[in-house]
Amino acid sequence: AKENGRGKFCVFANEMNQRVFEYLWLDTNLRKALELEQLVVYYQPKLDRDGEVRSAEALVRWNSPERGLVPPGDFISYAEESGLIVPLGRWVMLNVLQQIVQWRNEGIYLRVAVNVSAKQLLNQSIYTDLKQALNEAGLTDCPIDIELTESCLIENEAGALTLMKQFQELGAQVHLDDFGTGYSSLSQLARVPIDAIKLDQSFVRNINKQPVAQSLVRAIVAVAKTLDLQVIAEGIETKAEEKFVMTNGVDGRQGYYYAKPMPAEQLGHWLAKHPA
Ligand code: C2E
Ligand code: CA
Ligand code: CA
Ligand code: CA
Repeated sequence: AKENGRGKFCVFANEMNQRVFEYLWLDTNLRKALELEQLVVYYQPKLDRDGEVRSAEALVRWNSPERGLVPPGDFISYAEESGLIVPLGRWVMLNVLQQIVQWRNEGIYLRVAVNVSAKQLLNQSIYTDLKQALNEAGLTDCPIDIELTESCLIENEAGALTLMKQFQELGAQVHLDDFGTGYSSLSQLARVPIDAIKLDQSFVRNINKQPVAQSLVRAIVAVAKTLDLQVIAEGIETKAEEKFVMTNGVDGRQGYYYAKPMPAEQLGHWLAKHPA
């Protein structure tokens, strides 16, 4: 038993070491990545009820010379902890706006949904950055939507609510991401300024396995309709999942079944081939 305990401690210490090492590695390298423009924005199309694609979600990746294409799950939480998410988020926002302008020059009109972390809502900078970038890009409309999670409401609720309203006044829609996980409650929906909820992938994953998941989706859609909110289902991977959400009042859909996130140029080609 003693041996066993000691072994466990070693494993634990080893894991700690690895985590500290990873933190330090990210601390130098992610900062550099931002300066050296190693980040790249991928886009995943979002389909409306009629099958048209009028918007896409921006999902950042890191093209690391050492590690290859690094997914956001490997560095976003570090960026949030270190505060680097603020300049990183600004970079994403500016990059997306440039891309939108370029697409317009090619005759492609798309809105883009940008993910925003709780830390980015602790001050006004993400809002002022967006406003300024719209001006600089010469855009009179606001083709950006904001995806945020309920955790944004926990750290600084008053500030977050104010910013959400400001985004809406600017012409951005505000979408509540990962809905149904964490602290979300249906009653909460009535008092937050949002335009849509994105059903968490876990619901879609269970639709054809657990009858209760079906009931939950139906209940959420019913409440959302009452509050005049759109419902977007993400993580759709199969025809059966599509069928279920389409016959149960979901307004928008997104997932590998249609397309994985891809670089901007590729999305242009995908759109040209996509039958609306
Ligand atoms: P999210 O906002 O919930 O994004 C959805 C994630 O699910 C994305 O992972 C997407 O590639 C993946 N996905 C889409 N369709 C499917 C599907 O059909 N099946 C499965 N299994 N997965 C699917 P990704 O790109 O790795 O992003 C992970 C998370 O990183 C995002 O979750 C978001 O919270 C965060 N993130 C990404 N880009 C940014 C950013 O620019 N800023 C911030 N603050 N967070 C970001
Ligand atoms: Ca999202
Ligand atoms: Ca999500
Ligand atoms: Ca998420």
